[in-house]
Amino acid sequence: MDLSGKTIVAATRNEHKIREIDQITSQFGMKIISRDQAGIPPVEIVEDGKTFEENSYKKAFEVMKLCGQITIADDSGIEADALGGAPGIYSARYAAMSDDLTEDHAPGEDSDDEANNQKLIRLLSPFPYEERTGRFVSVITMVFPDGSHITARGTVEGHILLEERGSGGFGYDPMFVPEGYDQTFGQLPAELKNQISHRANALKELRQKLEEHTR
Ligand code: IMP
Repeated sequence: MDLSGKTIVAATRNEHKIREIDQITSQFGMKIISRDQAGIPPVEIVEDGKTFEENSYKKAFEVMKLCGQITIADDSGIEADALGGAPGIYSARYAAMSDDLTEDHAPGEDSDDEANNQKLIRLLSPFPYEERTGRFVSVITMVFPDGSHITARGTVEGHILLEERGSGGFGYDPMFVPEGYDQTFGQLPAELKNQISHRANALKELRQKLEEHTR
C-alpha cells in the first residue's frame, strides 16, 4: 500500500508525539494532521485496555469512526525491569496510581510529567544502576476506513536514572539513557531520538508492513 502523499489523522492529542510521528513519517511521504486539524470534536477516548496493543487499536479505531479517514495512534510507555515492567501501560497516569498498580483506578486524566518522573525515581531509588534497566515501548496502529488495521511495536532498551538530565523531549525522556549512549533522551538531539526511539522503531516496522500489504 503506497501512502505517500496521503493525509493521515493522528488519534493522539499529545503534541510531542504528533511532532515525532510527523518527523518520521514525513520521510515516507505521509502527512500527519492532528484531530483538531481534521475537525474532530475533543471526545475523550477511554484507554481501558490491558495492553499497549488494545489501547493503541482503540484510539485509532474510535477516531477513524469519527472522521472516516486513515488514522494512526501511538500507545506508549516506559517499563522498569526492577518494578516488574511498571509503569508500562499506566505511564501517563502513574503518579495517580498506587505504588504496586493494584488499586483499581479508572482511566482518566493523565498525571503531569514531573509527578510521574518523581514517582519512578522514588520507587527505583533502592536499586543500583545495573538493575535500573528498562525500555520505552510504542505500539502504533493504523486503521483504514474499511475497518482493517496494521499494528507495529517498537522498543528502545536503556537505563533509568534517579535524576532528570536535559530539557528536551517530554515525559520520562530526561531520566532515560538509551543503550550505547551516555546522555538521556532529554539531552540528546531530537533528530537522534527520532532515529533510535521506540516510536521510530515501531514506525519503521509499520512502513515495512505497509509495503508487504501491496505485494
Ligand atoms: P499514552 O498517551 O497513554 O500512550 O501515554 C504515554 C505516556 O508514556 C506519556 O505520558 C509519557 O509519560 C510516556 N512516554 C511515551 N513515549 C515517551 C517518550 O518518547 N518519551 C518520554 N515519555 C514517553
